[in-house]
Parts: sequence; structure tokens; C-alpha cells
Amino acid sequence: MESDLAKTYRQESYWLDSIPESLEPLPGLDGDIRCDVVIVGAGFGGLWTAYHLKRAVPDVDIVMLEAETAGYGASGRNGGALGGIYDGFEQWVADPATRDAAVAVKKDMIQTVYRIGEICEAEGIDCHYAREGNYMVATTKKEEAVVQGMVKGFGALGFGPPDYELLDAKETARHVAIDGVRSCVYSPHFAAIHPARLARGLAQAVRRKGVRLFERTKVRATAPGSVTTDGGSVRAQTVVLAAEAYIQSIRGFKRLLAPIHGQMVATAPLGNELFEKTGITPPSRPYFSVLSPLPLYGQPTADGRIVLGAGDAYYFGSRLKKGAEFKSQFVHGRLLDSFPKLGDVPITHRWGGAMGFSRHRAPTVFLNAQKTLAWIGGFSGSGLAPSFLMGATLADLIADRKSERTSYPWVRDGFPRHWEPEPLRWIGVTAVSRWKHLQDYFNR
Ligand SMILES: Cc1cc2nc3c(=O)[nH]c(=O)nc-3n(C[C@H](O)[C@H](O)[C@H](O)COP(=O)(O)OP(=O)(O)OC[C@H]3O[C@@H](n4cnc5c(N)ncnc54)[C@H](O)[C@@H]3O)c2cc1C
Repeated sequence: MESDLAKTYRQESYWLDSIPESLEPLPGLDGDIRCDVVIVGAGFGGLWTAYHLKRAVPDVDIVMLEAETAGYGASGRNGGALGGIYDGFEQWVADPATRDAAVAVKKDMIQTVYRIGEICEAEGIDCHYAREGNYMVATTKKEEAVVQGMVKGFGALGFGPPDYELLDAKETARHVAIDGVRSCVYSPHFAAIHPARLARGLAQAVRRKGVRLFERTKVRATAPGSVTTDGGSVRAQTVVLAAEAYIQSIRGFKRLLAPIHGQMVATAPLGNELFEKTGITPPSRPYFSVLSPLPLYGQPTADGRIVLGAGDAYYFGSRLKKGAEFKSQFVHGRLLDSFPKLGDVPITHRWGGAMGFSRHRAPTVFLNAQKTLAWIGGFSGSGLAPSFLMGATLADLIADRKSERTSYPWVRDGFPRHWEPEPLRWIGVTAVSRWKHLQDYFNR
């Protein structure tokens, strides 16, 4: 029997709800301890950092502190699109000083999709990894021009077919029949995964390697070389902050990231007859997205549902909403637009989660010169592959290993600029969001 607390974790997302094992949290920190590296947050950023660091330096003593339970944050709520993409790419490509590095990161990111599959295999993590690529669908003339431009742009950077190729409406509909499809960009470097299974499996993998994970342990304050929680403190050579959108709960980091919420829905299992109406043929599990001012992304799950996500809500004062607070009506509406033949298929789960957006719109790895304080985050809506590669980068930096990754543009020598205080932050972020919603409305 699970406690009421474990049951509330299940309400945070369909993914957490469908974890077969118990979600009972591990014991929290009780007393003052020491270690080499303390990592705050057991989502993908913290877990991959721990994983890579343990591989590089097996006897390093790592402690992880998690406010709730592993995978509680965005890592257990997202769309499960593991793709060779990252935020910051367009910005870095546009700058001649970072263009080559942007391309190198992109190549590495594509390989990451495959490496994660191999690691899951090696570690026995059953995260329903299905690498069948992503179909990014255009449904309007404008979007069609965008997908054409994308294929051309990627081609000019050395990512021509088969990395990115243009498919016509007929070919696209053979894999996923989004209503009104005109064409799509197909990339094979995408896997659909069950993200909470990956996060929970990774937590078990790092614990097997000797990492001490304390759950229900919220860090209140940090200083170089130490963190304080209600249950005790941890002194360490290096403190790694990996709390993403929730980092605002730690003193001094209220405005480092803006938490932008995405909303999600999961349908009831469709059955073969209904699936036929989506153009998807189980057990095939292609990832798909619909290109629009507010992009839609989704996957057929291993248990025969459609999980779909979209949206970009910001709440005044960077307020974080719980998963179950979301009605996800916007996404439900988009599901009906995209697959009208599904009719009133029951929606069994509606939830939301917060992505961490940095002011400079790119992810960051930072380790101070004394190696006493590090930060990994700012993934925005693309964190699955980047957290792996950035975790490896941070592990290299902590272990003093020079690699190609340690010269990537996401390595910075300080925290990036913080967001503006309220109400300016709300006005700025909300204006962009409203503009996108308006464009989205007139787009359809
Ligand atoms: C709705 C949604 C859809 C998304 N879809 C995709 C997608 O399809 N593909 C993709 O690549 N990316 C996607 N993302 C982004 C991706 O999920 C994130 O970038 C990634 O999971 C971030 O991992 P993280 O470890 O940095 O943060 P989180 O997973 O948020 O982990 C942070 C952890 O820190 C803990 N914590 C917070 N404060 C404290 C504290 N004070 N003390 C101790 N612990 C603390 C939290 O409880 C949490 O477990 C999506 C995100 C959302 C919200």
C-alpha cells in the first residue's frame, strides 16, 4: 500500500501514475554530513551529472538531495521527445563566433539520442525507448514555407537527408495522419520515451553506483561548498544546483529562470480500430509535432494511448503550479483539431509542468574557479538529450578532464543575467505568450 504522499506524486502526471513500482520517497537527510559532490535536484540534469561523474571517477562520494522524489519535476511530466535538438542552436548558428561549435553540439546531440538508448539497455532501464524519428508537420501554407526553409537551412549546415528530409502529405500520412497535413520535416534522430521510467531508472542506476540519494529533502540555502536543509546540512567540495524551474525556492535564485508551464493530456488506450484513424500503426511509435506558433508535440505510448502537449503559461511572481491543477483544455482542443476522427475519445490524465527559461534563451553549465559551486540548467522545452550532454560536460569540468564538450558555448564563467523583477517579468513573458496565442488562433 502506498502512502497518501506517494499517491499525490502519481497525480502529477500520467507518466508518474504509470510507474509500476512504488513512489514511496526514500528517507530524507537527518543530520550533518560531508561528501565530495552534493547535487541538488534529482531530475535529468542532476541524475545525468551524477551518472557521468561516477563513470569518470568511480570512487567520488556523491550525495543527491531531492525536495520530493526522483523525477518529480519536469523530468517526470514532459512529452518524452528525446531528440537531437537543443535550445540555443539558432542563436549560436547566427553568430560567426559560435557557428562551428553550434554544429558540433548538434552532431553530438544527435549521437546522444542513440547513446541514451544504449545506456538504458546496459543499465536495464525499460523506458519504452522507440527510435522511429519525428514528423514535424505543416498544416498551413505559411508552415509549409517554414519546413522547406528548415530543410534547406539544415542542409546548408551539413544536416541534409537523411538527417532532415522533406516528406509530402501522402508520405507523412502513411506514418501519422494529422488533419490538414501539407508536408513535414522528418528526422530519424528522435526517440519516444516514457520519461518518468527513465528518471526513476536512472536514480536506481546511480544509487547502484554508490550515490546517496535523500528524498523529501528541500535545500533552503546554499553557499560555495555547503547546502542547508530543514533536516541538516551537507558540506562538499562542490555544490551542483540542478533544480531547474524550482531553483527559485533556494535563496538568491528567485529570478535566475522563468518557469513557463506546458500542459499535457493522455487519452485512454485507443485500441487498433481508433489508432487506424490517426494513421499510426501499433506497435509503431513515431514521434510527431505540429508546427505552429504554439507547437504541439505528441507520441503514441507503449500502452496504446496518445500523449500530447503544448502551451507556454507564466504565472505572476514565477508561481509554480502543481501538475493536477491543469485542465489542459487548450491541448485537448488541439488533439481534436489534429485527429478529428478520434471523436470524443476519453482523456484519462491532464497535467502540467514547468520548464526553466533563462533570460538569454540558452542552457548553461557553470562551475566557478574554486570548483565550489556549479549550475546546470535553463533547458527550456528541450532538456532530454541536452541534460545528458551537459551533465557529461559538467562531470568533465568537475573531474578536471578537458574534452571537446568543455569548450561548447553552454559553458559559461558565471550565472547568466537574472530576469527582471515583477511586474516587468510578467509583462514581458506574458506579452510574448499572448502574441503567440493570437498568431496561433489566426493560423487555424
Ligand atoms: C510539459 C513539459 C513538456 C516537455 N517536453 C519535453 C520533451 O518532449 N522533450 C524534451 O527534450 N524536453 C521536454 N521538456 C523539458 C524537460 O522535461 C526538462 O528540460 C528536463 O526534464 C529538466 O530536467 P531538470 O533535472 O533540469 O529539472 P526537473 O526535472 O524539473 O528537476 C528538478 C528537481 O529538483 C527538485 N528540487 C527543486 N527545488 C529543490 C530544492 N530546493 N531542494 C532539493 N530539490 C529541489 C525538484 O523536486 C525536481 O525533482 C518538457 C518540459 C515540460 C514541463
